Amino acid sequence: RPSPSPARSRPAPDHGGSADSCRVRVAVRLRPKNSEDLAHGADFDSCVELQPESKRLKLKKNNWSCESYRFDEVFSENASQKRVYEVVAKPVVESVLEGYNGTVMAYGQTGTGKTYTVGRLGKDDPSERGIMVRALEHILSSMPFETDRVAVSYLQLYLESVQDLLAPEKTNIPIVEDAKTGEVSLPGAAIVEIKDLEHAFQLLQIGEANRHAANTKMNTESSRSHAILIIHLQRSSRIKEENCTSLSNDTHDILPDDLPLVLKSKLLIVDLAGSERIDKSGSEGHMIEEAKFINLSLTSLGKCINALAENGPHIPTRDSKLTRILRDSFGGTARTSLVVTIGPSSRHYSETSSTIMFGQRAMKVMNTIKLKEE
Ligand code: ADP
Repeated sequence: RPSPSPARSRPAPDHGGSADSCRVRVAVRLRPKNSEDLAHGADFDSCVELQPESKRLKLKKNNWSCESYRFDEVFSENASQKRVYEVVAKPVVESVLEGYNGTVMAYGQTGTGKTYTVGRLGKDDPSERGIMVRALEHILSSMPFETDRVAVSYLQLYLESVQDLLAPEKTNIPIVEDAKTGEVSLPGAAIVEIKDLEHAFQLLQIGEANRHAANTKMNTESSRSHAILIIHLQRSSRIKEENCTSLSNDTHDILPDDLPLVLKSKLLIVDLAGSERIDKSGSEGHMIEEAKFINLSLTSLGKCINALAENGPHIPTRDSKLTRILRDSFGGTARTSLVVTIGPSSRHYSETSSTIMFGQRAMKVMNTIKLKEE
């Protein structure tokens, strides 16, 4: 890869200070019928009807009651992983490559396809690859200079404890907010630089195995924890000479036509815990504790989204670790896309309905996309 002249660290003249309002984008993805759905044979009755041309979804409660909802995109059970990536994640990744922060997140009931959409590795079958692998592939192929860097942290949030999936001995990683900039960091979490896709696969596989091992040890399922992949980017951006207004004439003369600047950005890819209410399923002891915390993080995420959607005076981001980590993703400076996953069966009408309502409220959240000033 070519090596640019020494990078400078200062706000990019063509982006510096500019900020754009940008609504959180929300797509809904319907999972194909599975054997459990089909086991209901002739009785199987879908409560969902998609109208992809108008990006609408009809949710049927019974023969008399049916509501229609519009999303930024609706994906039928036949939608490919490639198309989901291109619509949901690609615009966010492109923005991250330009130096902005971004978030792509999956929300829905357990078993509706969050991990399939986000975390599927598809090592031997590229058509199966989910958003994490495709985003890394996209980023690695878009980093032209030797000085460009891409690194990952891979974390699990379980019972209000942040665990490192790349260094499993680190189990209670603190979340730190910069008092001045509000920037959130997780000091102590491993940040591993990646060179190529093969290395990215290895890290994702290690993360997956550690997630499985940690959950077996804690006697829980991965659907009970949130998985968070953070892709850190540091890259040289070539800024056109005519935009370099802050340079003196003398300096101007000796600089190359294009001036490299350092842009730092982060992409969060989040596979949330199942959104179903687990407190109603007769949990006991440890399970009650678990239910309380899982409900705490998803409930507080819902409360933040409601407050942002209604322009409320107080956004309760400090109520849970999940909302602290996602502080920049909702109402912050990141470009954010959410995919809500649902199953077709009318047996899960109430979970499907609450997932759809969560997606509808998230569509009202406005972020202010801007570059960080160094
Ligand atoms: P979740 O993460 O929401 O609990 P999973 O991603 O584990 O759900 O999906 C549950 C099952 O359904 C898995 O076996 C997965 O392979 C399958 N599945 C989910 N979505 C799709 C899809 N769009 N196409 C094919 N199979 C899917």
